[in-house]
Amino acid sequence: MAGALQLASCTSQPTSDGETMTSEQTATEKLPADVHSYAQPAEAVTKHLDLDIDVNFDQKTISGTASYLIDNLTGTDKIVFDSRNLQIENAYLGDNIEETTFELGETNQFMGQSLTVKIKPDTKKVTIKYKTSPDAAALQWLSPQQTAGKKHPFLFTQSQAILARTWIPIQDSPGIRFTYNAKVKVPKELLAVMSAENPVQKNSTGVYTFEMKQPIPSYLMALSVGDLVFEKVGPQTGIYAEPATIKAAAYEFAEMDKMLVAAEKIYGKYRWDRYDLLVLPPSFPFGGMENPRLTFVTPTVLAKDRSLTSLIAHELAHSWSGNLVTNATWDDFWLNEGFTVYFERRIMEELYGKEYADMLNVLGYQDLKHTIADKGADNADTHLKLDLEGRDPDEGLTDIAYEKGNFFLQNIEKAVGRARFDQFVNDYFNTFAFQSTSTDKFLDFLRSELIKGDEELAEKINIEGWVYSPGLPEGFTAPASSRFAKVEEAYNAWKSGKPAAQLTTKDWSSHEWLHFIRMLPETMSLQQMADLDKAFNFTNSGNSEVLAAWFLHSIKNNYATADKALETFLTNVGRRKFLVPIYKALNATPEGKKKALAIYAKARPNYHAVSTVTLDELLK
Ligand SMILES: [Zn+2]
Repeated sequence: MAGALQLASCTSQPTSDGETMTSEQTATEKLPADVHSYAQPAEAVTKHLDLDIDVNFDQKTISGTASYLIDNLTGTDKIVFDSRNLQIENAYLGDNIEETTFELGETNQFMGQSLTVKIKPDTKKVTIKYKTSPDAAALQWLSPQQTAGKKHPFLFTQSQAILARTWIPIQDSPGIRFTYNAKVKVPKELLAVMSAENPVQKNSTGVYTFEMKQPIPSYLMALSVGDLVFEKVGPQTGIYAEPATIKAAAYEFAEMDKMLVAAEKIYGKYRWDRYDLLVLPPSFPFGGMENPRLTFVTPTVLAKDRSLTSLIAHELAHSWSGNLVTNATWDDFWLNEGFTVYFERRIMEELYGKEYADMLNVLGYQDLKHTIADKGADNADTHLKLDLEGRDPDEGLTDIAYEKGNFFLQNIEKAVGRARFDQFVNDYFNTFAFQSTSTDKFLDFLRSELIKGDEELAEKINIEGWVYSPGLPEGFTAPASSRFAKVEEAYNAWKSGKPAAQLTTKDWSSHEWLHFIRMLPETMSLQQMADLDKAFNFTNSGNSEVLAAWFLHSIKNNYATADKALETFLTNVGRRKFLVPIYKALNATPEGKKKALAIYAKARPNYHAVSTVTLDELLK
């Protein structure tokens, strides 16, 4: 283990009236209410979790105890947790496990239920005995068939945004941080890993213990259990994967140590000791999940040429934006993702040059334009600051937070220059380290530390236009890419009749191919499709980004040659980013819808709840 810990929440700061208060407490009090949690952290708040659980693959359940050290701030007689679809068996107080009463509130579809436990003014410890349900939304239980090795079952969690409450009774708000220890019992032939200090090999007991010393919000609680092996990459970095995947993963992510060095050069020391990756089976619904110390990542970035590793830069960047400085509520989600996309592009620029990062910006801009058009130019969901009250916060998980957030920050960088902006962001991360922060708090910091009353600068930065208005502000200049200009040349030549095989495509990366495929006309003849496919082998590409973009054309143009590959892709891959546009394209015609439903019936058991919630709605 390397690196000294810097725990801002452990440093006491005297307040003006002479009392001592941790900076974390100060932060919590000023945060806006989280409409997606029943917890009342201003009254009684959790500070540390001791989790003691059994993972049962036969029953598809997790059972055990969640024991919390709490701060009863107001001397109240109750502490409120979030729970969804959990079987709560008992609640106890203190070290002597004195039984107490608890009450479950009314059930809301995505919020679940409040779990109110009776406490005393001097209660320091609350223990809850519980069991998960086999269809807990955070948990995906995979059969051996659904893994790369085909021999052992697999389990992984996805807690973001508000799914932690489906596998742990918890104060499930990003504004509340706690440290944790865990003891996890699993079948002896499997290894357990968490968002914590991890074992590197199996032991003979199947019991593993974990420690997370840095305070984290609940959505970063993570567990995975499977036939996993570990391979070291650098002194501080390594990879967990199934034995069948580890070699390919170690090759693909060989540069992760360099990424860590590049990131530290820009925003200072990495504060979580180790940075490891866990490569999951393909049903993982996201590209990556920034679980601290152990990013969970989709195997769909194993392109064999290291061309999709900006995703790792993204998850690594979250170690600063998101995990270190966290959005206080899901309405402030852009603070997590906008900063992370901005930082991801900076890391890629540091490693591969500006031309490379420019390509990512252009692709991101295309996604953003698409999302804005999709939602409608006046839609309030295209503001950076969201209002998700009464809705599943998952609805805020769009390119607005990611790409519009990124372009807002790039716009500020342009206005003040890179050196000054870097200093500002460094100060921001240091000031709010291990705290949660809101849009308002960030904007206050921006005004006091950067704008400083400079009206001309304030106008250029245009907070109102970016944060509280729909779409993109007037005067926004779209990003450009010199490498894509060459792709456009090739594309124009093809459009004017040059055979695909004669185009200059040497050394194109995934990004150039993606740009090329996205430019292809909506309507193409079967001969054009076949010509492209023969020259570039799109249908049989091993690159998931290329495949997903190509299938959109094959569906629209009834290019039956790709049907089998499409079905294989949809039944294997569970990454929502790919699934949604493909199923949407299929769903656009009666014939396609029939096909979509037939494939979905087969593929659905392989998708995580995060994906099926969206797709059930889409396909009704
Ligand atoms: Zn992210």
